[in-house]
Amino acid sequence: MSDYHDFEHFGLDARIVAAIKAMGYQTPTPIQSKAIPIVMQGKDVMGAAQTGTGKTAGFALPIIQRLLPQANASMSPARHPVRALVLAPTRELADQVADNVKKYIAQTPLRCATVYGGVDMDPQTAALRGGVEIVVATPGRLLDHLQMKNTSLGQVQIVVLDEADRMLDMGFLPDISRILNLLPRERQSLMFSATFSEEIKKLAANFLKEPVLVEVARRNQTAETITQKVVRVHESEKGDALLTILRTYGPDGGPMKQVLVFVNAKIECRRLARQLQKQGVNADAIHGDKTQDERMKALEGFKKGEIEVLVATDVAARGLDIVELPFVVNYDVPFNAEDYVHRIGRTGRAGASGVAIMLMTGADERGVAAIEKLTKQKFTAEAVEFERRSREPRRERGERPGRDERGSRAESRGYVPAPRPVDEFFLKPYEPAAGGAAPATAPEEGAAQTKPGQKPPARVAALLGGGKR
Ligand code: AMP
Repeated sequence: MSDYHDFEHFGLDARIVAAIKAMGYQTPTPIQSKAIPIVMQGKDVMGAAQTGTGKTAGFALPIIQRLLPQANASMSPARHPVRALVLAPTRELADQVADNVKKYIAQTPLRCATVYGGVDMDPQTAALRGGVEIVVATPGRLLDHLQMKNTSLGQVQIVVLDEADRMLDMGFLPDISRILNLLPRERQSLMFSATFSEEIKKLAANFLKEPVLVEVARRNQTAETITQKVVRVHESEKGDALLTILRTYGPDGGPMKQVLVFVNAKIECRRLARQLQKQGVNADAIHGDKTQDERMKALEGFKKGEIEVLVATDVAARGLDIVELPFVVNYDVPFNAEDYVHRIGRTGRAGASGVAIMLMTGADERGVAAIEKLTKQKFTAEAVEFERRSREPRRERGERPGRDERGSRAESRGYVPAPRPVDEFFLKPYEPAAGGAAPATAPEEGAAQTKPGQKPPARVAALLGGGKR
């Protein structure tokens, strides 16, 4: 398979090339160099790539090329049957894919419609009934439209499952199966996934015919574009540590701008955004309980730079297209190591450099070890020196409030309790537990050993990652 180094050499129609040049695309990304010729030949593709690699154009441009011979300017809806279907897990991703596709087809008579839940069906119905060659849809809403006979999939020639792993995570398999059963058997099928579980392999085996595997370097392995850091903190210090990181880990030790902060739970998402706001940080939250409009509004504000810090859960952040997002912070270590790959994939895109910082507490050893194993790397945990926001006299005396009081204060004043004296632990190397299991003794309680001759630097006391697992 030969790679192509400029868009002219794929044999794409001049109208497509003109459209992508107008969008500022100069050279194809690796996934585009590999996927475009294969998709143009009509072959099935299993693509190992995630959002941010340019995969949308990787499948969309050759699909458009294949549909062009049938493109026409007729007013009759019957002359514009659905010929290509892209299934995506979230509204945001569907919107992004469709936005790009609409730009790619701008100079052709082809039409594209987007279909997803959480919004009025009527405009979607009108678009579908008017005739569209390319439909980008989330599975549930598409089934609603199919049931209402607003469209039919009997003439689909090409189908794409985008972010297939996430669709399975979100429980879309039954919906996907129903949709696939409505497609002609003779068709071209493409599937993209950032990760490869057994379920994904099974789906690929059922859904693709002799697929060509198209792979690009996984984001987590592109060390030259993403700087990954792990910061060791005590659970009770996470809020203060985050504030310090936000204020001092940016360019030249200044504040970070446009930071996506990941948390594991919706409730934490809300709480942390509120807490940051109280500290004067321009923060907002996106999570599953927010309406689509609220999520889009937050995202828009974030893209424009009006919101500096966006706190997000994995599902809400899936597929966000924020070009050159410089910073990602994992406030919580993700439950699944694969989510780490998705999360840090939000930065360091299209060759831009990015920084991904993860807070790690004593309870996160196992999670961090799993990430190290998956991403085939060893982290060197750092400690961050931060100013504690608590100013209570009795705290200075080393006393801690009672349990109930602690919770309510944290909520109402936005500070995180329990300042700790200089922690000897930070002078010791970090050693993950054997076999990735949680340590019997929490490291805070002194399980680690000091490396001979190691001196902590003034600001950051380096903790060397242990080599044994
Ligand atoms: P994707 O991975 O498809 O979501 O693309 C990520 C971002 O990169 C989108 O904003 C695309 O418009 C942009 N992009 C895709 N291909 C190229 C390219 N060849 N040159 C520059 N930007 C691109």
